[in-house]
Amino acid sequence: MTIRSFDLLQPRSLAEASDLLLKHRDEARPIAGGTTLVILMKQRAVHYPYLVDLQSIPGLNRIAKEVDGIRIGALVTHRTVELSRLVRNSFPVVAEAFSTIGNVRVRETASVGGNLAHADYRLDPPPALLLLKSEVTLFGPGGSRVIPLKDFFTGMYETALEAGEILVDVKIPNMPTGSKAVYLRHSALSANDWPCLGVAALVSKENGRVRELRLALSGLAATPVSVDGLEFVRDCSFDDSVLDRILGIVDEQIAPFYDLRGSEWYKRRMARVFVRRAIAQLESQA
Ligand SMILES: Cc1cc2nc3c(=O)[nH]c(=O)nc-3n(C[C@H](O)[C@H](O)[C@H](O)COP(=O)(O)OP(=O)(O)OC[C@H]3O[C@@H](n4cnc5c(N)ncnc54)[C@H](O)[C@@H]3O)c2cc1C
Repeated sequence: MTIRSFDLLQPRSLAEASDLLLKHRDEARPIAGGTTLVILMKQRAVHYPYLVDLQSIPGLNRIAKEVDGIRIGALVTHRTVELSRLVRNSFPVVAEAFSTIGNVRVRETASVGGNLAHADYRLDPPPALLLLKSEVTLFGPGGSRVIPLKDFFTGMYETALEAGEILVDVKIPNMPTGSKAVYLRHSALSANDWPCLGVAALVSKENGRVRELRLALSGLAATPVSVDGLEFVRDCSFDDSVLDRILGIVDEQIAPFYDLRGSEWYKRRMARVFVRRAIAQLESQA
């Protein structure tokens, strides 16, 4: 199908972009890489008479090192994150998550902000970013606000973005001392297909003793899940009884549903397999 005509508006600042979005309300959407939006518009699943081109705003495509972490601009592409030496050295789990997305053509074009704002329930990056307690900066008519990424996802394809707001960047705090993290995805159809589910795990240790376990998951509910209630693992070893308790907690906090990549039953089973596998992988690296 051909795309219906639209006006491409090219603001020079976040304030101008926000004004345009507010002025045209439901008739306008921001466009970043366009990899999702253009497909949806070509399929005529959606139509917006006005697209607000974020690429015309300077400064949104940088990765900056800060004392307590890194800040990734909304327009940084998946491929740039995947290949960034800074990200690979300090946050390998984040580089790994971005490297698994779709194919190189998609990763060369699609942006970090577009990925998160699309809020598909199967996205690869959110588990790794949630694991590290990332925050997002949003800019809108009231100025800037910063919220935890876990509060950004409010439902299937729904986010905390309000009218006229744009996602500006993601701040990833430094990994806890003595920690290692891993991201595993399960593709039920083909290797470069959207994941059936994704599991990110972080274990931190002090003098060989477990201090903390964090788990974050995607594809297993309408929004990505940060697993709560894992504090009990402190000073434990990951033996069968501890693993069973962890898997029970995960099972209670997910709400998978049937789609092309599996039934609820299958996804619950695969969640157990991949959480176990992620923890085993971290333990084998220790
Ligand atoms: C073939 C294919 C395979 C894919 N496979 C995967 C996969 O395996 N795993 C995965 O995680 N993802 C996958 N994706 C999704 C891909 O990561 C998204 O297409 C991409 O993240 C969207 O980024 P974009 O910059 O192109 O956004 P766009 O298409 O430009 O925009 C997407 C949405 O986000 C909004 N938006 C964009 N930027 C902002 C912003 N800064 N602030 C507010 N709103 C904004 C737009 O208005 C639109 O609603 C796949 C996509 C394709 C096309």
